[in-house]
Amino acid sequence: MRFEIVTIFPGFFAGIFDNGILRRALAEELVSVGVHDLREFTHDRHRTVDDRPFGGGEGMVLKPEPLAEAVASLGIQPKAERLKGTGFSPCIEDSKEDGALAPEKTLPEATQPAAKTRVILLSAQGHPFTQAMARELATLDRIVLICGRYEGVDERINQLYCDMELSIGDYVLSGGELAAAVVIDATMRLIPGVLGNEASGEFESFGVADAEIATADVGVPRSQHGSGGLLDYPHYTRPAEFGGLRAPEVLMNGDHAEIRRWRREQQLRKTLTNRPDLLEGASLSKEDRKLLDAIRVESE
Ligand code: SAM
Repeated sequence: MRFEIVTIFPGFFAGIFDNGILRRALAEELVSVGVHDLREFTHDRHRTVDDRPFGGGEGMVLKPEPLAEAVASLGIQPKAERLKGTGFSPCIEDSKEDGALAPEKTLPEATQPAAKTRVILLSAQGHPFTQAMARELATLDRIVLICGRYEGVDERINQLYCDMELSIGDYVLSGGELAAAVVIDATMRLIPGVLGNEASGEFESFGVADAEIATADVGVPRSQHGSGGLLDYPHYTRPAEFGGLRAPEVLMNGDHAEIRRWRREQQLRKTLTNRPDLLEGASLSKEDRKLLDAIRVESE
């Protein structure tokens, strides 16, 4: 998997991938990152990348020509060229509710430049970036991330080249660089082999349902649930006693089935308290629903 970042601030990424899991993934060549300075694709003395907005108003806009050249330098044609003759027109409106692209709507392999590539525009106006989307991006071969600055990017770049417009949250950043780093981090850790323990990416907040997780455990009941769209349960480590609080006894008794039940209840409690909106789309068993009702009654 390769990430290509197009930015006017290549220096932003110095050091950002030098720690932890990302550093290891790069060192082991499970992923690679190319940082492309947009100014290298300008042709004037001042290396101009921006201009005043048509129609007036605040700020500056990233010009289309250097961006188009930067994308072309990566061997990527405009969408219309890629899709010629396929009768296919991918757009983010085709995405499923959970944020993943509907499989039948994803770009046909034959139309992609050299590999499974997506061009993403980082934008506060984009569709919300979710864990489901990160899972889908992690199956690609190459992701091109276009980082906006100032008031944003000339919209024709979005229309001509971008397969998705992604926002990392409902707030406005000064530039797409932080957003690109977020997308890379969340996606990269889901690539097989990147996390030390292969399964550890599966048992996290916003993860898939239990039934979708295959583990190698034989004979021992698994002590975790696939979150099925819920938040993670709380974690504890040594010492057992800290700040006058004792870690829950159930976690120390070695009964995996009991631990699993407790953790599920905690996932439900946390989600109900912090993100009740997630419960609607979560995969909940009959037992989960009963537990949830009991928690609701208890908190009334
Ligand atoms: N005028 C834009 C608006 O109101 O939506 C904001 C532009 S912002 C100052 C500059 C750049 O930061 C954007 O072009 C985009 O690349 C990036 N950006 C800002 N907020 C973002 C977000 N929530 N998610 C992803 N990228 C973001």
